[in-house]
Amino acid sequence: MCLFCKIINGEIPSNKELEDDNFLAFHDINPKAPVHILVIPKKHIESFNDVNAKTMASATPFIQKLVKKLNIDKSGYRVITNIGDNGGQEVKHLHFHVLGGSKLKWGHFTDSDPKGSF
Ligand code: AMP
Repeated sequence: MCLFCKIINGEIPSNKELEDDNFLAFHDINPKAPVHILVIPKKHIESFNDVNAKTMASATPFIQKLVKKLNIDKSGYRVITNIGDNGGQEVKHLHFHVLGGSKLKWGHFTDSDPKGSF
């Protein structure tokens, strides 16, 4: 069973922020911003590659409700999902990083010199 499935079933504790029948939102253990929440579907889906439109559609109001609860909806925030090795996905259970609470930097896109690939 994957790490996030263990968080869903309570085997591993988490600091929960919001939950409904289909999604769980909890605080990232290693926050990269003053607000850093992970939103995960309760059903195991490996990555964005495998998610269907129905699940994505229901993720939208859940995240919108979450950012209002966190009071970052007006100040702004970022929603990111990492996919696969080049995307930097460490946990192979679809998750959306919701980052906010301060002005976010736009980080580098690649560890290698992008000019090196041309
Ligand atoms: P990614 O690199 O996109 O797969 O993101 C995985 C995220 O999960 C990282 O930001 C980690 O800090 C976070 N993480 C790993 N283990 C836990 C945990 N037990 N509770 C909360 N967040 C976690």
